[in-house]
Amino acid sequence: MNSRGKHKKKKKNYQRRNRMVLLAFILLLLLVYVIIQKREDETYATTTSASLGDIIDIIEDGQADVSKYLVYGTHLNLEGSLDITNPEIEDVKIVAKKSSGDEVTVDTTYEYESGSLKFSTLDKINTGLNLESLDVGNYYMLLKVTSSNGEVNYYSLENDTEYKEPIDYYTLTRNNSNSKIDISFLSQNGVSALALNINTVSRLPNNVYDVVIDPGHGGNDTGAISGSYEEDKIVLENALDLKKKLESLGLKVLLTRDGTETDEYDTYNIYDEDGRVTMANESGAKILVSLHMNSNESDLVHGGVEVYAAPNMDFTLAKSFADNIVKEANTSYSRMENFKEEDGVYVRTIEVNRNYNTFRDYKGIYDEVPYLFIIREIGGIATGAYVNGSNSSYGENIYRNSNVGVEGYLIELGYMNVNSDLRNVLNNGDSYMQAITDSINSYYSIKQ
Ligand SMILES: [Zn+2]
Repeated sequence: MNSRGKHKKKKKNYQRRNRMVLLAFILLLLLVYVIIQKREDETYATTTSASLGDIIDIIEDGQADVSKYLVYGTHLNLEGSLDITNPEIEDVKIVAKKSSGDEVTVDTTYEYESGSLKFSTLDKINTGLNLESLDVGNYYMLLKVTSSNGEVNYYSLENDTEYKEPIDYYTLTRNNSNSKIDISFLSQNGVSALALNINTVSRLPNNVYDVVIDPGHGGNDTGAISGSYEEDKIVLENALDLKKKLESLGLKVLLTRDGTETDEYDTYNIYDEDGRVTMANESGAKILVSLHMNSNESDLVHGGVEVYAAPNMDFTLAKSFADNIVKEANTSYSRMENFKEEDGVYVRTIEVNRNYNTFRDYKGIYDEVPYLFIIREIGGIATGAYVNGSNSSYGENIYRNSNVGVEGYLIELGYMNVNSDLRNVLNNGDSYMQAITDSINSYYSIKQ
């Protein structure tokens, strides 16, 4: 009896312990569930969660109008004006300010004329606010004017452009990690600012890439030919290799063609819904590298590498491509002097008449834009994309008015008609692609 009673009590204790273990387990499950939910909330946080917060307190000096705002590659840029009377201006900056008070400053070019201060960060389209360098959190972009007496005034920014939709920017993949930046104009109590709401995301959305590689030509268009060698095939083989090399850095890479296209893909489509310009614009990528082989008339033999970029750019990355290719692939800078900016770096432009969608025609506004379509048309308004479908021999670039552009480079690896160049690319393509990979890696600090 005694022992049975003891046994029963033991059993009761045992059951209680079981219930406690079960309860603890359920609590643990709940905790895990809450953590996962929270992470998902963070992943999909939107600008609606942001407000002007504390920042509203420092803006008491009025409002500047933004006439242009755009993202080109990895940088955000603004242009606008401020009505202000008789200022004694020492300095004008655009600042991205955190609630904590920290600020990242961007230089502007500015001029004051009859009551209006005009400012711009667009002197070089691939500099400005580096979106890759910002910490997670909320930033507010303001105009900061310093007077000659040392007084500092902050002005809020009002969106006076036709671009009202927020921009979703994903940072380049580093260590399998990305941040999402929601860029949008916020307004509160009559004060507005351009807000950047930055969150870490666990991965890029399926349709977003870091880099686009464009193997030139394809389909019916072989590009340059030398003997039995065709440009489109040489650059495709190298593009596939470059993709692997960039992926080994952890980057997500899209090819505009990969050789598996069907025979119907004969037309080497550039524009419209399925063209390579559309692919690049829809990729969310920061940079595009287009691979080509050069050629020219036999009596004008040059040889060597040429890297083409847009005008009004900082050429650090373009120069790095050229330098690394010359060094690592043991080739030379092209000796061609036309369009040359620096050794190996070239900028070729045309004047386009916006009224008539032609190069040189009638009266109208002429803009100087990049000559190479793959650089011009993927950059949107930053590079003066203009192909609107009115020329029936082209399609239409449906992203020509986009305020988000991909930073484009076209690399002529060597000359098809210069035998040493052709042999070097054929035998040594791996070194050319490694050089391009090394430039991207160090310029964007992908892997330390
Ligand atoms: Zn080509």
